[in-house]
Amino acid sequence: NISLAQRVSALTPSTTLAITAKAKEMKQQGIDVIGLGAGEPDFNTPDHIINAAHESMIGGQTKYTPSGGTPALKEAIIQKFKTDQGLEYGPGEVIVTSGAKHALYTLFQVLLDEGDEVIIPTPYWVSYPEQVKLAGGVPVMVEGKEENEYKITSGQLEEVLSSKTKALILNSPSNPTGMLYSEEELRAIGEACIKHDVLIVSDEIYEKLVYDGNKHISIAQLSPDLKAQTIVINGVSKSHSMTGWRIGYAAGDATIIKAMTNLASHSTSNPTTTSQYGAIAAYEGDQAPVEHMRQAFEERLNILFEKLNAIPGFKCIKPQGAFYLFPNVKNAAEQTGYEDVDAFTKALLEEAKVAVIPGSGFGSPDNIRLSYATSLDSLEEALKRIHTFVVERS
Ligand code: PLP
Repeated sequence: NISLAQRVSALTPSTTLAITAKAKEMKQQGIDVIGLGAGEPDFNTPDHIINAAHESMIGGQTKYTPSGGTPALKEAIIQKFKTDQGLEYGPGEVIVTSGAKHALYTLFQVLLDEGDEVIIPTPYWVSYPEQVKLAGGVPVMVEGKEENEYKITSGQLEEVLSSKTKALILNSPSNPTGMLYSEEELRAIGEACIKHDVLIVSDEIYEKLVYDGNKHISIAQLSPDLKAQTIVINGVSKSHSMTGWRIGYAAGDATIIKAMTNLASHSTSNPTTTSQYGAIAAYEGDQAPVEHMRQAFEERLNILFEKLNAIPGFKCIKPQGAFYLFPNVKNAAEQTGYEDVDAFTKALLEEAKVAVIPGSGFGSPDNIRLSYATSLDSLEEALKRIHTFVVERS
């Protein structure tokens, strides 16, 4: 008779993983399923990164490192912030973690007391609310409205800020919507956070994947006060196609970073040594592969976007970043006789043989998320299948 702790019994399983598992099972049965659930680039890690990691191991770098990461990797990250955002951090203001996800997890653990509120704009990345709850915090959802490109406004923020509010999570470019906050929007949101002394957790993991001449802006770069009010979360997973290496980081207030480093010393000990050597090469080496991948994503986006919007009952705002399309398909679900988008998504998998993620998992039940981190051929075939399915069933 095993009884688990209350804190895990309240955890909701990831919808992304559930659909992906079902699609995999169908594939194993010999069914030709196209999976558009992926949350990772479909490119291999650039060779020079793999080689640097290999050489470090041969050279004997196979032991523990400092808990917060090696001085050399921290230096490479500090340099990256300087080059990309003009932000200056010291080594005591940076922690390297086992992926950006673990940076967020550790941050909420050191930040939140029971009942502290964290504002999470919807649609949100699935792990935010679960991580906040695991730390005893209370997620407060604020709807990023479709008419505002799924982004929240400073006015909406002011309405929910209270004495219990500890932090706001910002994710630009966004997973799942691909939208970017403009400088003006960031300034207004930042002002409200400073006024109410709310920490800004800025998840910038999709920073390098922006399209159509758009530019990523970090809220931390907008003023020294905003820098002081922000913890930036980033990593090499999406930018350098290094999801499996598990290297991310957080940068900001030294007291917070020190507490995170203490906690890491008792949980992970350190991020994987070999991966840290890979990440140094990722930041100090040739950045051409990053741009090459970005261009490939942009090309796919431009080809797919029109085709997606041509599907009856699909309505999509053109994403400015990341590698997801997030159409509102409420009308398509209705037209084809399904009670909701979850049921429609299930039918897409079972009948059209295309796996997409229902928006309900992101707090946006009228949408679905399609990842274009897969080959153009597969993507075009998938859209053809969805189109045919919707037309035939309407
Ligand atoms: N933040 C967002 C918005 C993500 O989409 C992801 C990955 O899917 C992460 C963080 C986690 O990145 P990592 O693989 O570095 O843990």
